[in-house]
Amino acid sequence: MSHTLTARQALVLMYHGVGRRSARQDPFCLFVPPDTLYRQLRGLLDRGWTPLTLDRYLHGRFPRRSVLVTFDDGYQALLDEGLPVLRKLGFPATAFVLSGVLGGTSAWMAEMPDEPLLDAAGVRALADAGLDVECHGWDHSDLVNAGTGTLARNLVDAPAVLADITGKRARAFAYPYGTHDAAARRAVAEAGFEIAFSVHDAAGRYAVRRVDINATEVDATFRVKTWRGYPTIRRMSGAVPLLRPALHSLIGFAQRS
Ligand SMILES: [Zn+2]
Repeated sequence: MSHTLTARQALVLMYHGVGRRSARQDPFCLFVPPDTLYRQLRGLLDRGWTPLTLDRYLHGRFPRRSVLVTFDDGYQALLDEGLPVLRKLGFPATAFVLSGVLGGTSAWMAEMPDEPLLDAAGVRALADAGLDVECHGWDHSDLVNAGTGTLARNLVDAPAVLADITGKRARAFAYPYGTHDAAARRAVAEAGFEIAFSVHDAAGRYAVRRVDINATEVDATFRVKTWRGYPTIRRMSGAVPLLRPALHSLIGFAQRS
C-alpha cells in the first residue's frame, strides 16, 4: 500500500514533556525546555522541513524532508508550555495520551511519580487546538507478554474513552516504553488502528521507529538525530559499545541543574 511507503519515509520525532525540570525532578530526561523546543522546531522549518499532521502522514503526499512530531504520555505541561510554542510556529503535532489515568500523575515511574497528567478537559483542549490526540493505552502497561485482558483494556477500552472526549476515533497507537511483540502488534491491528509507533525496534506499520528527543539534546545532537542516517548510526554504535559515548563526548550534553 502506497501510504505505508510514504509513512516510512518521514522522520518521526518522539518527545514527552515540555518544561524546565532539574535532573532530580526528571531523572529520565523526558522534559525539553520550551525555548529549546522552539529552537529545534524553528530550525527544522528553517532547514526546509515540512511538518506533518497525522492525516497527511498517513494518507497524504509530502516531500522527502518531512517530519511528524509526537509527544507521549499527555503531561499537563504539554498544554501549558508546549502548545504555545507549537502555536507560535504553526507546527502540527500528535499527542499520545493514557485514557485510564487522565487527571492523574506519572505514577508508573517510581523515580518520577508526581508529574501531573492532562484531565479530560485538557485532552479536549489539545484536540480543539488542532493537535492529533491519539492513544498511548490505558495506564502505561507494558504490552510485551500481556494477557488478553490487558491488551483489550489498552487497545479497545482506551481508544473508546478517548473517542468520547475528542469525538474522533484514534488512528495511531504508541507503545508504552516503545516495546512490543507479535501478539501486541496483532492486537493493535485487530483493534482497528492504522499505525503504531515504537522507539528503536521497527516491525512494519505496527511498529514504526521514532527518534527520541530528550532533555540532554544540544543543537548539535538534535541535528545529528534528524539526519536520515541516524537510526543506522545508532544501531551501529549499539553494536560498537565504545562508539556512542565517544560520539556524545564529542558533541556534548545540555547542562541541567
Ligand atoms: Zn509513555
